Amino acid sequence: MSDAVDAVRPGRAAEPPVLELQQVRCAFGDHVVLDGIDLAVARHEVVALIGASGSGKSTLLRTANLLEHIDDGRILLTGEDVSDPRVDADRVRARIGAVFQQYNLFPHLNVLDNVTLAMRLVHRVPKGEAERRGRELLATIGLEAKAGAFPDTLSGGQQQRVAIVRAIASEPELLLLDEITSALDPELVGEVLALVRTLKAQGATIVMATHEMPFARDVADRVVFLDGGRIVEEGPAREFFRSPREERTKAFLARVL
Ligand code: ADP
Ligand code: MG
Repeated sequence: MSDAVDAVRPGRAAEPPVLELQQVRCAFGDHVVLDGIDLAVARHEVVALIGASGSGKSTLLRTANLLEHIDDGRILLTGEDVSDPRVDADRVRARIGAVFQQYNLFPHLNVLDNVTLAMRLVHRVPKGEAERRGRELLATIGLEAKAGAFPDTLSGGQQQRVAIVRAIASEPELLLLDEITSALDPELVGEVLALVRTLKAQGATIVMATHEMPFARDVADRVVFLDGGRIVEEGPAREFFRSPREERTKAFLARVL
């Protein structure tokens, strides 16, 4: 019987989470930045990380991408312990797409080369095929005509959308988005968020740090509130915003909503 059929057969063990952090701790000197983080993200799930500046959102995303050390705990990607020091971090990162606040694109490469670079160098996709797929992706965001343009000729919103399609070009199992709209002029935020919405509709698995609360409420399946490197509260997005339970959550939401 095929795996696909097996997977839906009742009684079979559920597939492992795409990403799982187990008791993850990260400290810089005696400053504990992540303090016993437990988080499991299921396939097709969109999780929003919210919390004040300095609460550990970026560090959490960086540990998930093996860009930051951890002092304790484990990180699993589809059940594989990728925090094991013997694991090849580049191989793990090749399975993850990441977009940050800014400076995502290589300034000396044109848009198409930015989109195809990882496909070609990391995933060994032949040039012609990578470029065909790159143009296809650019077409989905209405930027096919910009294939030969350099990043600095694009608006911030266009640049972030290119960064996002570049991140998904190699069909990663997990997408990490760190405040991807926070460096944008307000009028450019919408087009970037609309693209995230489309990716969700297409079934992407996403963990995103965001300060766009209405967006988190509407798009995330689950919201995780961090304070001082700990998960203070989490829950289904609508419920979380409608009726937060913890005082610290209420105080935070009162400040940002
Ligand atoms: P957030 O993304 O929620 O604003 P960060 O994860 O960026 O929070 O930072 C959490 C805390 O960790 C902050 O106090 C920050 O100063 C500290 N921090 C992050 N990276 C480093 C580092 N490389 N060295 C020392 N402190 C760091
Ligand atoms: Mg941050």
